[in-house]
Amino acid sequence: MATATEPRRSKPAASYQTRLLIDGQFRDGVEGKTFATINPATEQEIAQVAEGTAADIDLAVKAARKAFDSGPWAKMDARDRGRLLYKLADLIEANIDDLAALETLDNGKPLKEARHGDLPLVVDVFRYYAGWADKLAGDTIPVRGPYFCYSTREPVGVVGQIIPWNFPMLMVSWKWAPALAAGCTVVLKPAEQTPLTALRMGELAMEAGFPAGVINIVNGFGPSTGAPLVAHKGVDKIAFTGSTEVGKIIMRDAAQTLKRVTLELGGKSPNIVFDDADLDAAVDGAMLGLFLNQGQCCCAGSRLLVQDTVYDQVVEKLAAAAKARKVGDPFAADTDQGPQIDETQFNKILGYISKGKAEGAQCVAGGSRAGDKGYFIEPTVFADVQDHMAIATDEIFGPVMQVLKFKDVEEVVSRANTTDYGLAAGIWTRDIAKAHSLAARLRAGTVWVNCYDVFDAAAPFGGFKSSGIGRELGEKALDNYTEHKTVTVSLK
Ligand code: NAP
Ligand code: MG
Repeated sequence: MATATEPRRSKPAASYQTRLLIDGQFRDGVEGKTFATINPATEQEIAQVAEGTAADIDLAVKAARKAFDSGPWAKMDARDRGRLLYKLADLIEANIDDLAALETLDNGKPLKEARHGDLPLVVDVFRYYAGWADKLAGDTIPVRGPYFCYSTREPVGVVGQIIPWNFPMLMVSWKWAPALAAGCTVVLKPAEQTPLTALRMGELAMEAGFPAGVINIVNGFGPSTGAPLVAHKGVDKIAFTGSTEVGKIIMRDAAQTLKRVTLELGGKSPNIVFDDADLDAAVDGAMLGLFLNQGQCCCAGSRLLVQDTVYDQVVEKLAAAAKARKVGDPFAADTDQGPQIDETQFNKILGYISKGKAEGAQCVAGGSRAGDKGYFIEPTVFADVQDHMAIATDEIFGPVMQVLKFKDVEEVVSRANTTDYGLAAGIWTRDIAKAHSLAARLRAGTVWVNCYDVFDAAAPFGGFKSSGIGRELGEKALDNYTEHKTVTVSLK
């Protein structure tokens, strides 16, 4: 285990914001319940956090409804909404070290990733959408007859947003920024494993000057906090990121009130390495694509398809790279991999590793728990993986790489697309025609060529098939939060 070379954050629980944010006030839950949030590196409790239930969701939705229908937010000029978003971005930037440390404490991701990966993108996302607030224009439409016809874009209303634990603050930014730019009000339900940074962002949003009720945060559990938000009649739209399984439940439940729904779900993304690629770059990209964030990425390149002529060579490099990764204290500067988020995920991942071994895949690196405290797992690489094996079909969401062998382009396209998922894909080749033609044939929302996990606030992200509905980031995400209105005026 690595030793800490950066200051640890070890403030007492009382110094974290742990209450719910409803109507501009931090308050306890109506039922007075709390739950523990755990540091996954130590298995110790960090703090008790207020647990919201249906009664708190009702208060939060009513506050958001009031703010949307009649509060100062409803009358605010779009450009001033943008200014509030810029202000929030500035405050996040001013607090970037503390926010990164709090994220690492609650989530377990290496501090260097939180500080230099997640947080700069959070700031960028708020600034990007701040710029959109006053640019949501409609059209004038040439219609038959003596009529003047135009369209406007209006905010969809009160939005319920339910997010996972893998990129807690980044998910807040992807959800809040376009919704607020469009003029919506929000009720956010963070994941039970990572409630703290969303609350800190709530504090910063209040400091920035967002009016009461525009941003509400209700922590708690899926069935008792998330489900009432999905069911609530006062909510116009649900935006969800998480598992495909829960995504289906949300779509079904939201149908009762015909809410708009966007979903960003799981994946089993193919990352394809041809023998004409820069193999060292491909290996680096494959390592990043799978092991980033302890393997807890919806777009993880978890099916690495390598051409047969370079297969053995690539497997050898991957095994060596996996063995060289430093696993340990996420606050240490040289740590590459921290703990998994919780015991449930830890056990699920170890279960898949056992299954992979039992199914006859060859474990060439890792394969066990790392250390004896905290939810650490060795970076694991399986070679000789067959398409039918559970490790090749299921989303493992951990540091477990599957390396499969292919012969030619036709075979790899068909195998890459043989999955219910369609979130992302990678292609490694020096042949530009092959890269573009393959990019067109892969059924995935994002295709990375000679790179992986390159995200930008301006570039849309989302899934084909069971990986989701709708796109986040970029101009496209504004569609999730706006209604189009057509106005026709008689000129007679
Ligand atoms: P999850 O259950 O889908 O959780 C995502 C969010 O949905 C959490 O805030 C969760 O609340 C909430 N939720 C759960 N059930 C709900 C319901 N019936 N109604 C409304 N909201 C509900 O994901 P998970 O359990 O944390 O992880 C399980 C698997 O999901 C992972 O192994 C991975 O495969 C996948 N996953 C995908 C992503 C992604 O980025 N696409 C992210 C995380 C996980 P709680 O706080 O109570 O869980
Ligand atoms: Mg869950």
